[in-house]
Amino acid sequence: MTEPTIPQLQPMPEDWQRALAVVAHPDDLEYGCAAAIAAWTDAGREVGYVLATRGEAGIDTLAPAECRPLREREQRASAAVVGVSSVEFLDHRDGVVEYGLALRRDIAAAVRRHRPELVITLNHRDTWGGVAWNTPDHVAVGRAVLDAAGDAGNRWIFPELVEQGLQPWNGVRWVAVAGSATPTHAVDASPGLERAVASLLEHRAYIEALTDEAPEAYARKFLTGAATSVGERFGGRPAVAFELFHR
Ligand SMILES: [Zn+2]
Repeated sequence: MTEPTIPQLQPMPEDWQRALAVVAHPDDLEYGCAAAIAAWTDAGREVGYVLATRGEAGIDTLAPAECRPLREREQRASAAVVGVSSVEFLDHRDGVVEYGLALRRDIAAAVRRHRPELVITLNHRDTWGGVAWNTPDHVAVGRAVLDAAGDAGNRWIFPELVEQGLQPWNGVRWVAVAGSATPTHAVDASPGLERAVASLLEHRAYIEALTDEAPEAYARKFLTGAATSVGERFGGRPAVAFELFHR
């Protein structure tokens, strides 16, 4: 008798040079994606981060006016750990991001500025695999990213962007959704895992407010656990999973 085989994830495409990661909050990329990003920047690829908000509603004990600059600082430090120097904020309001034209336009503008071949975002579906409800910001931003990857290529959808000098960019070939319950592809997390832990730890104020565990142990346990579990579907190597949409 043979063991039932677990369907395996495909390796992510590697024939690209520029990626843009667009997510709702500081920390969204560090909770899972950063090991993949470290591997990509190691290979000489350019990755930029765009955050829809500054995460100012993320710490219960800190009012948004104080929280905003703190989380921005933590995000820039996190990005630097995995070789990302371009970090932009769209300044939508944390917790109440609305899916709509304003968000699509802002993301389409970012895509035109960066001209990526690969766009990365976070789970846009209602739940995390049916077991936990997703937050409205993730749903709104993830959906808007999937839409804006196309909007960026059409000069007539947001003509005001062309007037601002942002020419259409039709070069997005894939949108990769991290945290999907139905992933299709993966990236080996082993070379980037230590930096991913360090990257998540840059969100220290956020983590300290979130848990009583020691931040180091917390970050390592979370990221190692996630990478090991994806690895069961990637030849046993710790990995970061994505659901890949082709354009
Ligand atoms: Zn988030």
